[in-house]
Amino acid sequence: MARLVMKFGGTSVANIERIRNVARHVKREVDAGFDVAVVVSAMSGKTNELVGWVKDASALYDSAEYDAVVASGEQVTSGLLAIVLQEMGVPARSWQGWQIPIETDDAHGSARIVNIDGKKLIENFDSTKQVAVIAGFQGVNPEGRMATLGRGGSDTSAVAIAAAIKADRCDIYTDVDGVYTTDPRIVAKARRLDKVAFEEMLEMASLGAKVLQVRSVEMAMVHRIKTFVRSSFDDPAFPQPGTLICDEEDIVEQQVVTGIAFSKDEAQITLRKVADKPGVAAEIFMPLAEANINVDMIIQVVSDDAATTDITFTVPAAEFERARAVLEAVKLKVGFASLHASTDVVKVSAIGVGMRSHAGVAAKAFKALAEKGVNIRAITTSEIKFSVLIDAAYTELAVRTLHSLYGLDKA
Ligand code: ADP
Ligand code: ASP
Ligand code: MG
Repeated sequence: MARLVMKFGGTSVANIERIRNVARHVKREVDAGFDVAVVVSAMSGKTNELVGWVKDASALYDSAEYDAVVASGEQVTSGLLAIVLQEMGVPARSWQGWQIPIETDDAHGSARIVNIDGKKLIENFDSTKQVAVIAGFQGVNPEGRMATLGRGGSDTSAVAIAAAIKADRCDIYTDVDGVYTTDPRIVAKARRLDKVAFEEMLEMASLGAKVLQVRSVEMAMVHRIKTFVRSSFDDPAFPQPGTLICDEEDIVEQQVVTGIAFSKDEAQITLRKVADKPGVAAEIFMPLAEANINVDMIIQVVSDDAATTDITFTVPAAEFERARAVLEAVKLKVGFASLHASTDVVKVSAIGVGMRSHAGVAAKAFKALAEKGVNIRAITTSEIKFSVLIDAAYTELAVRTLHSLYGLDKA
């Protein structure tokens, strides 16, 4: 029997009425003859509430207990959906991460899935014909404790289960009807893409398009899982295809730029009057690397006096305070005069596999942004994307400008 994984995000299961609608989507696929594994998120807002409670309980909370608390949101929705399905006459049973089991490493709060044995699920399909309603976002670590997969992790649960049970397809149902050229909530002229290449989706997700968790895209790419992003708000009787994440070769009309993403999760740090001598960059960036802080954009200004220089770089906003502490600790050794920081910045990126074969794609953007009076604080480029760091106040203007510039606006 063909197998299918269907994942429903927080807004899709926000209340019992929506869970009923989800159950209708599931019933349609069961009626079509699929063995179905459903992966659910917590009701929208629930995970934030749980995280808030943990932080209120203690600033220095135990990360294993954080996982015990935040994984509960998915336990609730898996049970509720199973009940609603049963009421509709569809045999269903809920599964928690440990019952499958979804084995993870021991990085509480952002655990990676290391193994899923699909055997129990498959045997259960064969013997009971029950829909398996699986709590997303959670697994079990080597000590047998609850572990969660990082925010947005239910997407990864879904793709990993699709790989484990050799599903024909993994459908990620969310509150938009596919992957768009940029966040449709920010740019009304954003266009839905019928197909997007794995590599592009990976960059879009990494650079801020939260429609799919980055690891879910990595996993789909590695295991060649046919993954669609579609809307749970479609009429269950008339489902729309959504967006297929696929190989680059399967996309006929390739654009130079496929999408624009943005991330507010950035902080900029500038070190003033750093000694301009060999080894100084290592003295700054080694301690940050040892503290597991990811540095992204780096700019070193040509020195005026041949003795000192300024170095600017970005770190994730969540790591900013830690980065500052690490740098203050090495201040004397590195010998910089002062540290300046800004968290009111945003990274705007353009992504497209077509950039590999086209020159001047980024240069066009610099000109267009300058014409709008948007000052660029830092730039990075790689094969299929470039990013600019700008003041957060200009986010929408910059995203809209680039979206139009590369011909992405819908007619
Ligand atoms: P879920 O709760 O279903 O996992 P998320 O909120 O995590 O849903 O992701 C869906 C949201 O992603 C959309 O509501 C949309 O605002 C946002 N988003 C950002 N960039 C894009 C994009 N390029 N295409 C579609 N949605 C996007
Ligand atoms: N509920 C979790 C979160 O809000 C996981 C998910 O929805 O994918 O991050
Ligand atoms: Mg999500």
